[in-house]
Amino acid sequence: MTLKGKIAFLSPCIAKADEIEDPNTGRLVSYNITFDKLKQKLAEMGVDLSQYPKTVFDGKPPGIGHVYSRPGGLSETVQVTDKNIWMRQVDSIDNAYSYLQEYHNRIEAHLPVPELVDILNCRGGCNFGTGTSQHTSMDEVDYKTNTQKQKKLDELVMETADGPVYGIEEYFDNVLDWKDYRRLYTNHKIENGTFTDEDLDDVYYNLRKNTVEARKINCHACGYGSCKRFAQAIKIGINMPESCIEYERSRLLHDTLTPLLNHAGLEAALEQSLWLYQTRQHDDLAVLMLDVDDFKMVNDSFGHDVGDEALKAVAKAISRNIAEKDFAGRWGGDEFMVILPNTCQEEAEEIAETIKQAVKDSDVLPHGEHFTSSVGVACARDDDTPLAVFQRVDRSLYEAKKHKIPRSRGR
Ligand code: SF4
Repeated sequence: MTLKGKIAFLSPCIAKADEIEDPNTGRLVSYNITFDKLKQKLAEMGVDLSQYPKTVFDGKPPGIGHVYSRPGGLSETVQVTDKNIWMRQVDSIDNAYSYLQEYHNRIEAHLPVPELVDILNCRGGCNFGTGTSQHTSMDEVDYKTNTQKQKKLDELVMETADGPVYGIEEYFDNVLDWKDYRRLYTNHKIENGTFTDEDLDDVYYNLRKNTVEARKINCHACGYGSCKRFAQAIKIGINMPESCIEYERSRLLHDTLTPLLNHAGLEAALEQSLWLYQTRQHDDLAVLMLDVDDFKMVNDSFGHDVGDEALKAVAKAISRNIAEKDFAGRWGGDEFMVILPNTCQEEAEEIAETIKQAVKDSDVLPHGEHFTSSVGVACARDDDTPLAVFQRVDRSLYEAKKHKIPRSRGR
């Protein structure tokens, strides 16, 4: 069949975009338009659907296919005519992969397996998918689905001496070819141990997984079963950080250029750390404020792309020289803040020197050139507010900068 024009798929799920992009689906569909987006567009255009007459699909009536979108919906349709079929219903990603492993093991062991496995990724099924407005209660959805289902069953199912006959099933058997509905998948299996933790260091850094705990959340939401396997998938280029639910959550409090905290994240961390110090849960609290020397000159001399690389290099220099308990972030522009709980003034000054040296050693500038930074240090006091700590460390940075000679072009 030759297709004229393009096909848009109206769907309840943002993940359908991946499915239609997959070469295994023949790339026949060009657009994934979610119900949510469609609703928004109709509202923007001032279209009121209730003003239009109700109509049915072209061609054959759809039967009770509308129940597919709720958990167990596939079983409901199959069981209209075959109540004895062995079906397995699996909900949520947490159970899906362990069940598939169990299914595989049973096949390998030549044990009987269910004839049909119905797996739904989202809790509440597709009716509450990521591309729906999700404002309706589950009972309300069920009530409407049940009413429609009963109407269709009354219209399309005939009880005979040989059992129920479902009108459209005959049509499906005669006209449709089941082979057209097969779906192939590419095996992206990654063996554990392909990469060491060290090999994955950069991936973990970009995923903002800078602590041992963050690398072992293993919540399964990405579908890989463990953070390490997911990091391996990114390493070989078959996935991206946005598929990690923790990464997506943390984006609200993190900088867009570096994997460090953003201004809001730093404010929250400073407030929390100060509270822990003032309630004697921590012995000390030191704060560093770092600023790249003459950053404007770096941008003017080498361009903004190199300027961005310089900021990323500062972020790395900081992250690699602080402990898991510490916080680091980009306060704004080329200014970075480091919060060091349980750290005294002397130790904080040593850390500041180490970071300054690591910044100087970074090799992102062309022609073997280097850039430097200045760091202010302040320690919290019992009666401090977060603003007071910030003002003191900012003053300390100002003092540190006063003694620097400005960088000249090409130096
Ligand atoms: S979604 Fe993120 S946190 Fe969860 S297992 Fe995958 S990589 Fe780890």
